[in-house]
Amino acid sequence: MGAGPTGLVAAMLPAAEGLRVTVLDRDPCPPDGGGEAVCRDWRRPGVSQFRHSHCLLPGGKSLLAAELPGAVERILALGGRPHHNMTGPPPRRRARSVSFPAD
Ligand SMILES: Cc1cc2nc3c(=O)[nH]c(=O)nc-3n(C[C@H](O)[C@H](O)[C@H](O)COP(=O)(O)OP(=O)(O)OC[C@H]3O[C@@H](n4cnc5c(N)ncnc54)[C@H](O)[C@@H]3O)c2cc1C
Repeated sequence: MGAGPTGLVAAMLPAAEGLRVTVLDRDPCPPDGGGEAVCRDWRRPGVSQFRHSHCLLPGGKSLLAAELPGAVERILALGGRPHHNMTGPPPRRRARSVSFPAD
């Protein structure tokens, strides 16, 4: 299933139960350096929508928090931002404005 949302959740659920899980993906591993480096430098040709901003709806966030404690906190630590749609578009972040040369 790769290291997209489906494969990562499928891996994290048994890992949270103490099982050792190996995730395989044809894309390279993330670079060191945290959220900004990941956003700027990570090439994920296997995920065509990787450079888009993404939103997790409230139900998804609640499910993630209930089933995988610590996952929401990790997303926030990597630069995810809480956002309420009634307050306007999400704030721009510097990393989102970086353009990437074609490979
Ligand atoms: C433009 C766009 C915007 C979106 N915005 C949102 C959003 O805001 N919020 C939201 O919840 N969803 C959004 N989605 C949907 C979301 O991105 C997908 O539902 C999600 O990525 C699907 O996850 P997945 O793990 O099934 O597949 P993918 O994310 O496609 O991951 C598949 C992984 O498998 C790897 N892989 C494929 N074949 C092989 C192989 N043979 N060997 C090894 N590895 C392989 C790939 O490299 C990739 O890492 C968006 C989708 C698009 C196209």
